Amino acid sequence: MNQILFIVGARGAGKTTVGKLLANELSYTFIDTDHHIQQTSNMTIADIVNQQGWQQFRHLESEALQQVSQRKRVISTGGGIILSTENRRYMQQNGTVIYLQASADILAERLMQQPENTQRPSLTGKSIVEEMEEVLAAREKLYCECANHIINAQLSPEKITAYVKEIILPRVIS
Ligand code: ADP
Ligand code: MG
Repeated sequence: MNQILFIVGARGAGKTTVGKLLANELSYTFIDTDHHIQQTSNMTIADIVNQQGWQQFRHLESEALQQVSQRKRVISTGGGIILSTENRRYMQQNGTVIYLQASADILAERLMQQPENTQRPSLTGKSIVEEMEEVLAAREKLYCECANHIINAQLSPEKITAYVKEIILPRVIS
């Protein structure tokens, strides 16, 4: 494979936290697709969605995914990246996909601890646990289907990093 690690999972799963640590540990470059979209468009994700709609955001997201996919990179993706068949196929064909799996309760608990984390506008007026339950109901199957490896997101970032480095990566490279 191309030595590209794609990290997928819902908001709050730890994609950024784990991705940065992992990249550092492997001497890979860390890239976050949401961050890349914000930099290249010079707009926040919230403004893109509010002004141009979700469809345009999803379009930019697919473009960003392909632009950032270069070897020796750990790519942390937006929570909804797996909604597109094209994105799922792209990740499967170009790298190794790691799903950080967490329950709605855990995700909500983490998100509530960082109220400043309001980058992604809420689609509904529901509570954060209800929202995460709905998100997982719609996406869990796609995360699992797309992933080469599913990792419990409640493990410490250090443990997850060690697992990827010592167990997953040697198999990918050999
Ligand atoms: P994502 O990028 O998937 O949205 P983040 O990396 O931003 O998730 O993490 C969301 C929150 O959860 C942060 O406050 C982070 O410190 C915490 N967190 C991330 N990974 C873990 C973990 N493995 N165990 C406990 N807390 C974590
Ligand atoms: Mg993130």
